[in-house]
Order: sequence, then structure tokens, then C-alpha cells
Amino acid sequence: MARYIGPVCRLCRREGIKLFLKGERCYTEKCSAERRQYIPGQHGQARHGKVSEFGRQLREKQKVKRIYGLVEKQFRGYYQLAARKEGVTGETLLQFLERRMDNVVYRLGFAASRSEARLMVCHGHVTHNGKPMDIPSMLVRAGDVVEIRTASREQPRITESLEGVDRRGVPAWLTLDKKAMKGVVTTLPARADITMPIEERLIVELYSK
Ligand code: SF4
Repeated sequence: MARYIGPVCRLCRREGIKLFLKGERCYTEKCSAERRQYIPGQHGQARHGKVSEFGRQLREKQKVKRIYGLVEKQFRGYYQLAARKEGVTGETLLQFLERRMDNVVYRLGFAASRSEARLMVCHGHVTHNGKPMDIPSMLVRAGDVVEIRTASREQPRITESLEGVDRRGVPAWLTLDKKAMKGVVTTLPARADITMPIEERLIVELYSK
């Protein structure tokens, strides 16, 4: 499946916030979004005029797409799925994104970033309800168990990521047994569980034009 493979710190600088795409580096003073607080590119430091409503909607959509590491087609697919469901479309959209297996692996602290989590899933280091699972886009359900495969538990990248989990925190809808490298989806994520600064209303407005 398609994915962005260019420099990721540029994406944070373009959106003007830390998107936490690079694992541990994001928590250090090396973070580019903190060191260079202007838009990347030749005219990044030039004065920029007032952003239009369309501009705000577009930026919000790009921001969320980049947080979850999706390309336009995949992201729009989630929006269409959310729009067909009952409830508040923007919140349902965020819930779908949070339920992705790669996001769950990241949220549980098994990986330092979502892109690393995605690779871990693709390479078969994760099990879902006791069975091998290699589909990063799979949506988890309440009661699902996500574990690191027994043969992969000594992997330094996984143990190092888990060391940083206390600082990052595990969201309330997941339970982590750090020692057993096992997580349980206790309930589906509610809007209040998604603490990132996202205005999903703008995305819905953009797509419903
Ligand atoms: Fe973004 Fe992390 Fe790079 Fe900082 S270090 S700019 S948060 S990806």
C-alpha cells in the first residue's frame, strides 16, 4: 500500500505542530519543529497572509492524514466509511483511525512511532487474539488482545520503545501489561480519549463540499 517516504520533520514544520512521527527524537531538543519554527522551503520564513477557510480545512485534513501516515485515497476511504455510519462523522472518522492496528501497536508503546508500528505488524511481530497478524489497517474491536509474538519479545527496538511508554502514556481505552507485552482493547476510543489538537469539523466541511 502506498505511503509517504520523504522527510517527516518537514511535515510537522508545514503543519506548525509536533506530529510525533520520529519516535524518541520527537521528545528531545533535536526536534526540528522546535528548532525551526517556520514553514519548510525557500519562502518558509516569508510573511504569510491570512489563511482562508478552505486553507484551514485543507491544513486540518493534511495534518490528520500525516499523523496517521495515510495517503489521500486511504484517508478519504475512512471519511466515506464514517459518513455512512450513524453519529457525528468527524468523531467516527477519528475513531476509525485510532482503531487501526498500527496505531494500537504504537499507542501500547510497542513501537516508538506509527511508521515503526506499521513495519512491526507487516513483519509479523504482532499477534491479534493469539493469531499472527500482518495487516496494519485492520480495525480492532472492543475485547481484542494485541500481543508481541513470543519470538520477537527480545527485540531491542521493542524493549526500548516500551521503556518510553510511561512518558507517552497509554490511552484509557487500552490496557497494557508491560511485562507480558500484551495489550487489551477494553473499549472503543471515545472523542475525549483522542487528546491531539484536531478540529475534525473542518475535515468534514472540506469533504462535504
Ligand atoms: Fe516532528 Fe518528531 Fe521531527 Fe519533531 S522530531 S519535527 S515532532 S517528526
